[in-house]
Amino acid sequence: MRGVVLHAPGDIRVEERPDPMIIEPTDAIIRVTAACVCGSDLWPYRGVEKLDGPVPMGHEYVGVVEEVGSEVTTIKPGQFVVGSFWASDNTCEICRSGYQSACVHRVLMGTIGTQAEYARIPLADGTLVATPGLPEPDLVSSLLAASDVLGTGWFAAVAAQAGPGKTVAVVGDGAVGLCAILAAKQLGAERIIAMSRHASRQELARRFGATDIVTERGDEGVAAIKELTGGLGAHSVVEAVGTQEAMTQAIDSTRPGGHMGFVGVSHDVSLPGDELFFSLVHLHGGPAPVRQYLPELIDLIYSRRIDPGQVFDLTLPLDQAAEAYRAMDERRAVKALLLP
Ligand SMILES: [Zn+2]
Repeated sequence: MRGVVLHAPGDIRVEERPDPMIIEPTDAIIRVTAACVCGSDLWPYRGVEKLDGPVPMGHEYVGVVEEVGSEVTTIKPGQFVVGSFWASDNTCEICRSGYQSACVHRVLMGTIGTQAEYARIPLADGTLVATPGLPEPDLVSSLLAASDVLGTGWFAAVAAQAGPGKTVAVVGDGAVGLCAILAAKQLGAERIIAMSRHASRQELARRFGATDIVTERGDEGVAAIKELTGGLGAHSVVEAVGTQEAMTQAIDSTRPGGHMGFVGVSHDVSLPGDELFFSLVHLHGGPAPVRQYLPELIDLIYSRRIDPGQVFDLTLPLDQAAEAYRAMDERRAVKALLLP
């Protein structure tokens, strides 16, 4: 099969990879209908994360089940399925508490590489959620968004306790930040402030539910949030970048007693203990337990109440994956969808 492999920073190739096979009896094999490039794929692409030789890429996927192992009971060949970037059994104590991204049997899908024609999905019964039928073609991009960026944005909004009566600020205008705005709106937030300086992203933020836009960053961004919130800061703040600047901006934008949800993959962030101590802010974040939200998100998408697929502003055949990475790296695209 054809699949995307990163050979060195900036060196994305689409090449022949071995066809995936059932290894564990709990595996399924899917034919990938659509995959995409994640903001987190840019960390190794840019050389920020070190590589030990060529690695398959991709952890977001929707597809049709081709084959299942002997112990798979609920997932059947022919079903259209959505899964998260962590394979999880969905039965262990951690999964049952809603933290499938820390499942005791978890497998990171990025090690398998779903930017490919086919993919092996471990723990298929726990990992995959089947849609009610084969989706209309125009729903595929939104279902793909549920696989990561929507589920991650949703978790961030929940972690920040976005809800009725709350003012929510979102740091980061990538696909996850934009989906966090959509989530905050669905969760009933009263006011949603998008922190963005890009016109096209601001426009999508407004379509997803943002009521205000702040273009300043750092201390000026914090001051702008304070000005919009009577000097107090936002009740709920989402951090969807993963840098020191974004984390500091997010914590400082949160009012005392407020909640900050952080889902940007953390890179070289350190938090001064004294600032944390005096902030009186609740912090919750990490790799999102997307699996927890998939049934609800699929229902919202199927009933056409949300349209998160709008985050994909570039669609390319799998063979042009290198251009998809370049476009996201240069911020010419918010998020690139790949069609195998
Ligand atoms: Zn588990």
